[in-house]
Formats: sequence, C-alpha cells, structure tokens
Amino acid sequence: MPELPEVEVVRAGLEPAVHGATIVSVDVRDERALTRHTGGAAHFEAHLTGRRIAAAVRRGKFLWMPVSDDEAVVTHLGMSGQMLLRAPGSPEERHERIRLEIEHPEHGDLSVVFADQRTFGSLAVDDLVDTPDGAAGGRGSALARVPTQVAHIARDPLDPAFDAGRFRARVARTSSGIKRVLLDQTVASGIGNIYADESLWAARIHPETPGSALPTRAVNRLLAEVQAVLEKALAEGGTSFDAQYVNVNGQAGYFAHSLNAYGRTGQPCPRCGRPIVRVSFMNRSSHFCPHCQRRR
Ligand SMILES: [Zn+2]
Repeated sequence: MPELPEVEVVRAGLEPAVHGATIVSVDVRDERALTRHTGGAAHFEAHLTGRRIAAAVRRGKFLWMPVSDDEAVVTHLGMSGQMLLRAPGSPEERHERIRLEIEHPEHGDLSVVFADQRTFGSLAVDDLVDTPDGAAGGRGSALARVPTQVAHIARDPLDPAFDAGRFRARVARTSSGIKRVLLDQTVASGIGNIYADESLWAARIHPETPGSALPTRAVNRLLAEVQAVLEKALAEGGTSFDAQYVNVNGQAGYFAHSLNAYGRTGQPCPRCGRPIVRVSFMNRSSHFCPHCQRRR
C-alpha cells in the first residue's frame, strides 16, 4: 500500500507532464474507478474534457490536480492504484480503469492512465475549499485550497504548515497506543504501517505505549524521527512492499534495504543485535525491538 513517499514520487513524476496541460479527452473504461465521484462516467468525461490542469498536488497519501480554483480531480490510489504516463494511443494497460489524453504546451500529447488491480482506488471531480489556516493546500501548489474529500485529513509531517503543537496535543490527550495515533490520518497524514514501525524503532518507543504516557520530550523525538524516516524514504524513492506498487514511469518502488524494523522479524535489531519481533496489530503487524522499545 503506498504511503507518503510513494505518493510523492508519483506526484513529482506527474507534475512536469500535467502542469499547464489541457485535457483533450477522457475515457472511463471501468466505472468502479469512480466510486467517489458524484455523477457517473458520462458526467466525469464531459466535465473534464477541455479543462486545463494547474498542478499536481499532494497531502499525505492524497493526490489531486486542480482544473480551476474551484475544482480538482482527486486520486485515491487505495491499495494498488497507479498513475502511469504513456505515449498517446499506447496499448491498454493491465487493469486500466481511466485514461486522460492530455496536450502539454511543451511535451505535446500524453496519456495519463489510472490502473488499479484491486479497485479500491478511484478518481473523482471534487470542489476545492479554503484551507482553515490559509496555507497552501498541499505540496505542489501555492493555492490555499483543498478538495472537500481531503479537507478532514491533517497536514503531513513534511508539510511546512504542519502544526506540531496540535500533534502534541492530540497525542497527549489519548490513551490509545501511539502507533494507532500515528496511523490516524486526522492527527498526521501520510504515515502507514511501514513508516510507523520505522519511526517508533528510531525513537525507541513501544508501539502500544499510550499517547498520554509519553513525555513531551519523547513526542518531539518521535515527530523528528517520523520526519527523518519520511525524508529518507523520499530520497530513496519510496519503500513500498507491495509488488503492485509502480511509480509514474512504471518502475517498481522497491527500496527495502534501509529498513530497520519493518518486515525484519527474527533478524537482529541494527542497534542492539537482539531479534526484532512481530505482533499482530489491526489486521496487520507491528515490528519492533522489545529490548530497545520497552513498554512503559
Ligand atoms: Zn534493539
């Protein structure tokens, strides 16, 4: 499942191709990819044809392309969604759902293909609303607007307008385990199972420690580690373990070599040498070092 760094790789890859491009035609090949769109395939196609894409913007794992100051195409990648750039008229991709033919003033004609094996992802036309703090809606545009479908999602920890004070307050007032808090997209967006485990390992915090039991010092350390882990993964191009994850140019996003805890069950902790353990957590797993990450 893509997390923030994987989606940022997609955004950064799309940006030069779509920024300033005009949507020439839209072809919805599978209406299941419009589950979050109000209005059906014919509406989606007619509504976007002829519109100009202003940018490719991301907050957390959400990606959108404004087509005016008031509307955007929102992409939910879900578990396995891909945004692929292809030559115009290229053969249909496996699991292709929607294709936008675009015309860019410099790059000429291109196809933007939304492909998705498991159909949890979707595209939707959505209204843009003002951000409550007046800062840019996300990375990739200075516009202080955000799609309604993304408005409830907190800024991500790499966003210059991320509110660290609000993050600390949310952590301090919950008795939930800190890993669950990290995964709550209304507290901080973009962190999934992989980077939660990596950040908690780096900050030496047990994943089930109640938020309210963490001293402010520890919360600050954790936030700094979250930011460092995300930045590092971003620099390496994403760390997705999902074989279906493919970036905008079709290359698999496998950069698993630098993980310290996630997926390393039974292997030595890089810090203390004792084995990393795995416990089940919300239908998934948590990986941590029981020696370095003691329960409080
Ligand atoms: Zn250890």
